[in-house]
Amino acid sequence: MINQNSSNAGWNFDNSYARLPKLFYNKQNPVPVDSPRLVVLNEKLAASLGLDAQSLKEEESIHVFSGNRLPEGAAPLAQAYAGHQFGHFTMLGDGRAVLLGEQIDHGGNRFDIQLKGSGRTPFSRGGDGRAALGPMLREYIISEAMYGLGIPTTRSLAVVTTGEKILRETELPGAILTRVAASHIRVGTFQYAAAWGKDEEIKALADYTIKRHYPDIEIDDDRYLTLLREVMKKQAELIAKWMLTGFIHGVMNTDNMAISGETIDYGPCAFMDTYDPATVFSSIDREGRYAYSNQPIIAGWNLARFAETLLPLLARDEEKAVEIAQEELSSYMDMYRAHWLSGMRAKLGILNAEQEDQALIEKLLDMMQKHRADFTNTFRALTLDKPEDTVMKGIKAFDDWYSIWKSRLKRQEGTLEEAQQLMRHSNPSVIPRNHRVEEALKAAVEENDFSVMERLVNVLSKPFAYTSEHEEYCTLPESSNIPYRTFCGT
Ligand code: AMP
Ligand code: MG
Repeated sequence: MINQNSSNAGWNFDNSYARLPKLFYNKQNPVPVDSPRLVVLNEKLAASLGLDAQSLKEEESIHVFSGNRLPEGAAPLAQAYAGHQFGHFTMLGDGRAVLLGEQIDHGGNRFDIQLKGSGRTPFSRGGDGRAALGPMLREYIISEAMYGLGIPTTRSLAVVTTGEKILRETELPGAILTRVAASHIRVGTFQYAAAWGKDEEIKALADYTIKRHYPDIEIDDDRYLTLLREVMKKQAELIAKWMLTGFIHGVMNTDNMAISGETIDYGPCAFMDTYDPATVFSSIDREGRYAYSNQPIIAGWNLARFAETLLPLLARDEEKAVEIAQEELSSYMDMYRAHWLSGMRAKLGILNAEQEDQALIEKLLDMMQKHRADFTNTFRALTLDKPEDTVMKGIKAFDDWYSIWKSRLKRQEGTLEEAQQLMRHSNPSVIPRNHRVEEALKAAVEENDFSVMERLVNVLSKPFAYTSEHEEYCTLPESSNIPYRTFCGT
């Protein structure tokens, strides 16, 4: 039975989402599990949320992370949402997650606390509502790596094993991830409102979103159009950051795009080793819809789906509303390109803008593709001024490029040290390389050894530190050209 928990963990919930119209959620308690065990706890994140890490390790709290007990003030619910999955519109909703509530930290900031893998809900369709340990640890590792890289993301507070087996292709250990997010409002939440709600309900969701994420625009006369613009800006910036680090989300369905601008739902995502714009890791993405180089385009497509949901709020006349939305959306690609270009300049230590920069950058990327250079290590080598560490050294085109780039750096006002400083802050020396992630998951899942993952997460928390400890995490797997496959986080 679920009881109120009275520990001193520091839970301080509000439940603003539950004050939205009933359409948007179902009250839903997590389904209790057999014998929960805490396997990972993010103590730093806990502290930043105003939670007491020591108390979170106690039995009471482990029962909270497993859904067996509710923390005081929680009002659990499953959120309703829809989404375009690989281009097809479907009703979805939290089929294996519940939102416990919103933790208010000491600074008054609000964070969703969600249990993922918490059992069946009315939105589960044929699913069992559960999650396997491997994928939950994977989300933990990658989301925390993204945070270290300075990329907006949901975060991971804890993982518990449930003591229950779940059935996939084989029997796997069950687990629950406690996910922390600015919110879980998705493009798909708006699509759900537009498809099944009345105009007042779309408006209620838009007003709620503005209040929660974009409070500065609340007084705007055109605030729904401004909301669209703000979300476009956030996404343009986010996707540029993915592209600049070689991150491939893998399932950019509209239900996996957060209105807050955080990266959300780590399923079959991965970081690219060898630079190839056509890279796809996800085993379910057979046509490469969500390939590396398609990500900016898909984000634009998803934003158009978002804009459609706002039409009733943009103008009384539908044709007029469409015109307004299209006009606004037309600036997205330029926004994205501007972020990408300034990010690429920073990766090359360029402090000011020159017309030829784009061509200089593209020339490098073309050579990297042609010679199958490692994305992260190429920029790392340039940062350390060790061109001999790239596979392209000695190739005339690269050597020529290198001297043109060097003279570009000399031409600018700042010193070479300043350029190098900028590069050090823009080029991570470590990323969660696929073979390292797999190694950590294998040790945890098969041998109950979480130390490999702990060390990896620790290294990934400071990706710009360029310490000697990083070196062993920079090496490529022996078989780095064997295509890596990721499977959906089920
Ligand atoms: P995802 O692939 O995690 O973005 O999930 C897509 C949809 O499938 C969401 O509505 C999930 O809640 C639902 N879903 C995924 N796995 C399960 C599961 N094991 N049981 C029930 N629903 C699930
Ligand atoms: Mg999802």
